[in-house]
Amino acid sequence: TAGKPLFRFDNTYARELPGLYLPWKPAPAPAAKLLFLNEPLADELGLDRAALLSDAGAAIFAGNAVPEGADPLAQAYAGHQFGGFSPQLGDGRALLLGEVLDRQGRRRDIAFKGSGRTPFSRGGDGKAAVGPMLREVLVGEGMHALGIPTTRALAVAATGEPVWRDRELPGAVLARVAASHLRVGTFQFFAARGEVDKLRQLADYAIRRHDPDLDGATGRYLALLERVSQRQAMLVAQWMNAGFIHGVMNTDNMTISGETIDYGPCAFMESYDPQAVFSSIDQNGRYAYANQPAIAQWNLARLAEALLPLMASGDDARATAEAVTQATAVLEAFPGHYQAALLRGQRVKLGLGDGEGAREAADSALANEWLALLQAQGVDFTLGWRRLADAAEGNDAPLLALFAQDEPLQEWLARWRARWTAEDALPPAMRAAVMRRANPWIIPRNHRVEEALEAASERGDLGPFERLLAALRRPFEERPEDAAYAEPAPAAVTACYRTF
Ligand code: AMP
Ligand code: MG
Ligand code: MG
Repeated sequence: TAGKPLFRFDNTYARELPGLYLPWKPAPAPAAKLLFLNEPLADELGLDRAALLSDAGAAIFAGNAVPEGADPLAQAYAGHQFGGFSPQLGDGRALLLGEVLDRQGRRRDIAFKGSGRTPFSRGGDGKAAVGPMLREVLVGEGMHALGIPTTRALAVAATGEPVWRDRELPGAVLARVAASHLRVGTFQFFAARGEVDKLRQLADYAIRRHDPDLDGATGRYLALLERVSQRQAMLVAQWMNAGFIHGVMNTDNMTISGETIDYGPCAFMESYDPQAVFSSIDQNGRYAYANQPAIAQWNLARLAEALLPLMASGDDARATAEAVTQATAVLEAFPGHYQAALLRGQRVKLGLGDGEGAREAADSALANEWLALLQAQGVDFTLGWRRLADAAEGNDAPLLALFAQDEPLQEWLARWRARWTAEDALPPAMRAAVMRRANPWIIPRNHRVEEALEAASERGDLGPFERLLAALRRPFEERPEDAAYAEPAPAAVTACYRTF
């Protein structure tokens, strides 16, 4: 209806943190066209789907009309990229429109990616192409359906303008929803400039937004580090249990909220290989699958450094030393949080109960032996886990079919089954059902994602994208019509798969 705003914005970042951003506007688009609207997410945010699907929606999502109540701004941030510090990154091709409260009262950012140059763009054009923005949709929705905390795509609009990469590509803008866009790099920006007052404003804002129970408490900056560390431990454990490789875990791509952000060069593993790297820009394998927990800890150390001026109770060496000791203890606790979260997830995937404390080492060893089997025989990570659920019901054949050699698997299965008897006997069908809720049948397989993006970008055909998205939204159901999405890529495709 005319006059009713499309979004009920309440922009705390713009209001409370002047000096931490630059007000800016999206670039206009010559021919706006809505390619995708996330209808379930629009509902979650209490938005009017029909209005967003109209021309007014296309105009907003392509950048031609700033919606009523928005305060568009480019956030300032820094970041370690592949280990080297860049003191000023900022939103080079992103723009925070504002914040809304969703139906559950949670504050969510709505931001654009690809909406044109900002004062932080450096050499970049500020634009984005259709393919990578639809990739954000597919992987983000896939992650969400897997129960992994993530930023999500609300909409993608084509701009009708070409963008130049290694060749001409159709341009697009992504509207991204996040618990916030606060990054480790946001703190690094103000810390590196010695702007301690702004750093404190930012940290207090982050606390109000993500850890409101700490608001005003003494020791809150150390507690914030601890909370971020716990959230990242849980997040990375979920990535590892899903076979997800982020691909560019720079500190500007690590959120304070614990949501996954930036689906640029990410990929899901097919045959299990801890050293897997897919990104062509990750020459040294810094962000390989197995390195992700250690990199998360390294990034948290950068957050700790940035927060140090706030943690120390005074300016003297003694106060600083004490803060360093406390922050170090928090960082040293990260591997424990991570291992605990990993094992919690592994136990569910294995169909095992929590067990007693003493059983932790044995269960962790059982999980590692299973992973070693997958690795030794080059078994598809996702299907291996999924077929283990069948074996929980006594149907071993589909699992055995994935393995070239039966014997080591049979030995392991015997130990796995022996472990069941050590706890409450769960009816087999129930154990299998629990496992099927933790071991997806469908993940965003790289070759399927590429195929969908190519059809959309090269031929303007959104059919493959829409069908894949529908399958990704029900990852735990085995429907015959989705079978093609559950299949691993042909070996030749997997061997040379590279993200940008
Ligand atoms: P990313 O590698 O996507 O995490 O981006 C790192 C930084 O580069 C961020 O500040 C981005 O906003 C910026 N950036 C990436 N691509 C572009 C682009 N095409 N134009 C301007 N800035 C960009
Ligand atoms: Mg990024
Ligand atoms: Mg990126």
